[in-house]
Amino acid sequence: MRLTVVLGLCLLPVMAGAQQDEERTREFSQSPAVRARYGDIPVKLDAPAVAPGREIYTSQEEMMTFLERLKGRAPQVHLGSLGKSQQGRDIPYLVFTAEGVFEPQAVRALDRPVVWLIGLQHGNEPAGGEAMLALSSALADDELKGLLDRVTVIIVPRANPDGAAAFLRGAANGFDLNRDHLLLTLAETRGLHAKMAELVPDVVIDAHEFSVANRWIEKFGALQGMDAMLLHATHPAVPKETNALTEQLFRPAMEAELAHHGLKPFWYYTTSFRPEDKTVSMGGNAPGISRNHFGLSGAVSFLIETRGVGVRMEGFQRRVATHYLAAKAALETAAAEGRRVREAVAQAKQAIASSREDLIVGHRIATVKMTLPMIDPETGADKPVEVDFRDSRRVTVTATRPRPAGYLIAPEGAAAIEALKVKGVLVCQVRGGEPIAVEAFQVAARKGPMTQAERENINPEQAVVVTLEPRKVQPSAGGAFVPMAQPAAAIIAAALEPDSPGSHVGTGMTPVLPSGEAPIYRLPPGTRVPVAVGSPSACEG
Ligand SMILES: [Zn+2]
Repeated sequence: MRLTVVLGLCLLPVMAGAQQDEERTREFSQSPAVRARYGDIPVKLDAPAVAPGREIYTSQEEMMTFLERLKGRAPQVHLGSLGKSQQGRDIPYLVFTAEGVFEPQAVRALDRPVVWLIGLQHGNEPAGGEAMLALSSALADDELKGLLDRVTVIIVPRANPDGAAAFLRGAANGFDLNRDHLLLTLAETRGLHAKMAELVPDVVIDAHEFSVANRWIEKFGALQGMDAMLLHATHPAVPKETNALTEQLFRPAMEAELAHHGLKPFWYYTTSFRPEDKTVSMGGNAPGISRNHFGLSGAVSFLIETRGVGVRMEGFQRRVATHYLAAKAALETAAAEGRRVREAVAQAKQAIASSREDLIVGHRIATVKMTLPMIDPETGADKPVEVDFRDSRRVTVTATRPRPAGYLIAPEGAAAIEALKVKGVLVCQVRGGEPIAVEAFQVAARKGPMTQAERENINPEQAVVVTLEPRKVQPSAGGAFVPMAQPAAAIIAAALEPDSPGSHVGTGMTPVLPSGEAPIYRLPPGTRVPVAVGSPSACEG
């Protein structure tokens, strides 16, 4: 079974990357009847690119000027920087509190739900970023300012400024920010996570746009019809406490607000770039997708997508309004139910930190029949299409492993150590000492390096096969001990178990040692690791 998986990976088309780029940049002109179906929504939106008659997106310079003006006119706005993109562009963020505070300690002391809104991880999906500017303006003015007595809002309008400047999905080096949240190989995602470790989210909303035409016409002879697609965190290790909130509280509120304006949402789904593959997949379960990553961290986490890739500025006001209304509904919900949200997130984190359950390292997703709300490309009339649908919520666990007390990472695992530290995970500095009993991962080598398409798969395979072997290893001074009794435990396991899909070792980001072992060891319960003098008490085991 596992052997089949490993061999299957070698057969993936090497041209996948080029196909994807072509599909994502090819522009499609919608018929007049279709365009008429997606007219403007009467909502006030203060953002540069939704001005009447405007035909180009907001530039980086325009955005910075817009944000500086907001800061200048409202004391409840803090404007800061997450750092620089690969090409040196600023990545601004805004903190909105009634008191105008922004230091981590001061924000924590407010004891209000902290909602993060992230736009433009993908540079060719501009409506979400534009909606963030409109929301920022409304939070600076009387329109939404009143919410700030009950909720703290943090907005990143343009997470990928290089991609936005080039109107391309990826970062300047071509990699996808929204597959990098586990590994943090990009400057842009590192900057984001470093700030999130300080201003820890209770709710995260990630704004995107979906492809309207190209591969949907090729496969099904139809266009995507719905205005919005929503999806919560679907990785099988996401705590039930927060997923209950997404289904009982946030999704109904967002859907009601959209319906009130005649906007139709659906589950988020996608399909591969291979014309013969007619399967449609709900958004995947990769732990490197922000929706899943923040869900695994214990936050309420949502993806919102609008109908925008490949159709230039057609329907742009409606797309921006859709993002604006869904995000506003989420902010209003967090404000109205602040106590419930804070408690559910605290319980989720407590459950993760104290769990004794086995780790899920492999799962299979069920395929069901689903009718997609598509439309006719000429007339714009409804054209429902029944498909085989991989439902990411319906999973069968295929591989589990007992939960260790923690992990010992050798100095060769520096990239993994660094990524965990950026996220604010408790990573304990090891000092040299007597050998300790561990479980070593013996890793069966993969054939050839992982392609970018494999690495960025929404449902990555178990790329390596491991066997566990009892060993004694001597802790070395450059290494680290990562205890599992902490709220980041689900992230830690996803990152460090080599056969957990998307892990550091599985993607090749952390090399296997010449002996065939991963530089990461499992520590049995009760193990004491010699840690540096002055380490936090949680490091003492
Ligand atoms: Zn996207």
